[in-house]
Amino acid sequence: MSKKNKFDLHDSRLATTDESGHRVFMFPEDVKGFWRTKRTQFYWFLIVVYLVLPWINIGGKQSILLNIADREFTFFSHTFFAHNAPLVLFFLLAFVFTIGFVTSLWGRVWCGWACPQTVFIDALYRKVESLVEGKPRARQRLDEGPWNFEKVWKRSTKWFLYTVVSLHITHTFIGYFVGTRRLFWITMENPNSNLTLFFTTISITVLFLLNFGWFREQFCLIACPYGRFQSVMMDDHSMNVVYDDRRGEPRRQPGQDKTEHADCVDCYACVKACPTGIDIRRGMQLECIACTNCIDACDDIMTKTGREKGLIRYDTLANLRGEKTNYFKPRNIIYFTAIIAIFVAFGFTVNYSTGLSAEVLRGLGSPYRITKTVTGKKHILNHFQITLDQSGSVEDKMIKIEILEESVNSKVELKVPRNPYNLKKNHARVNVFVKFNKEILKSGSLPFSFKIIDLKTGKELIKEVSLVGPIN
Ligand code: SF4
Ligand code: SF4
Repeated sequence: MSKKNKFDLHDSRLATTDESGHRVFMFPEDVKGFWRTKRTQFYWFLIVVYLVLPWINIGGKQSILLNIADREFTFFSHTFFAHNAPLVLFFLLAFVFTIGFVTSLWGRVWCGWACPQTVFIDALYRKVESLVEGKPRARQRLDEGPWNFEKVWKRSTKWFLYTVVSLHITHTFIGYFVGTRRLFWITMENPNSNLTLFFTTISITVLFLLNFGWFREQFCLIACPYGRFQSVMMDDHSMNVVYDDRRGEPRRQPGQDKTEHADCVDCYACVKACPTGIDIRRGMQLECIACTNCIDACDDIMTKTGREKGLIRYDTLANLRGEKTNYFKPRNIIYFTAIIAIFVAFGFTVNYSTGLSAEVLRGLGSPYRITKTVTGKKHILNHFQITLDQSGSVEDKMIKIEILEESVNSKVELKVPRNPYNLKKNHARVNVFVKFNKEILKSGSLPFSFKIIDLKTGKELIKEVSLVGPIN
């Protein structure tokens, strides 16, 4: 393709690199329009949720708290512990299938609408940039111009404001792990008293600052793993930002009669508005983050030239070819079924698990002791240690330990220091003594079960052991 316009892109090179491989910084035009408005509203909704959520307490606990040090992970009043790690499998599987399902249906909607990279850059960092350095062309002139007083103070101010924004994002991020209220008081103290946390916060701030302030679309183009494999999850029936070439081609060049040509006037407004610098008219490309800027830019041109909007729009390639889009393709059905199955299995596991586990071990020392009453009657005593472990909750549990076998109930006496037992912590070890007449032992041992009952929920655990005593 011969180069005929300064915005006409090179055939075999990214728009963000020059012929020597150096980075070309992007200065996408600001656009106005339906999608721009919707995206701004949605971005601010996400940002407010991100900033406010860790300050909200539900059931006396921070709404989301990932306490790595104590291995306690709270999500909306439900706390999970390290031993709940198998549940992570559900989240991972649900995540993978949801990504597949969403991408198969709506392409890179995540990139354009909800990825922190897009949301923070577009709603915060680019706004700061416009505020300090002006509109895109003014920013480009400043960038290409010499280092004079104007450039120094504008760049200093911009990076100072970027740092303030990055510090805020970082502190909220850390709040999800440390606890926002605790973090607030920590920030009032001398950094020396929390040096590790201090350096972690500084490091993450620098990382965010460089990523959102400088690296920007490069992350999407060369570092994002999702960007690499999303193309295998899409096909001609996936909704994407597309250019309708049946409507747009052949393009009208300046001076040509608009009635003789199709709708694209080759104005490059779509290219100038693209944050990754691509030309959507060349078809779907890996670099497209589905931000919809080109839709609004082109709709504006269509309105001005008296054509119907939607030359660039959300649509499927099948639709563009005049075929019917098939939303019920096998891969969508498989993804959807798998997601439902995972959520059902997760709900079943959480709801029908006792939230309690118990391990019964024989007490240390001799397996049994023989005791005598004042009348000289002999009894055998077995000592057990029951380790109670509650999962999924840090709420108190009232635990009652009973004997399962009704047949031996009258001949066996259970001695537990406190029964019911108030389980306040995650773990507790309870000493249990079983006293019984020797006659119930037929051959020196008798299968026997403890029934461990959560009195709040009524859920029960059965633990099988054996009672032992002398053979004769
Ligand atoms: S091609 Fe359009 S939707 Fe894709 S990144 Fe560029 S402006 Fe955004
Ligand atoms: S903005 Fe629309 S009319 Fe202008 S070049 Fe892009 S597709 Fe063609």
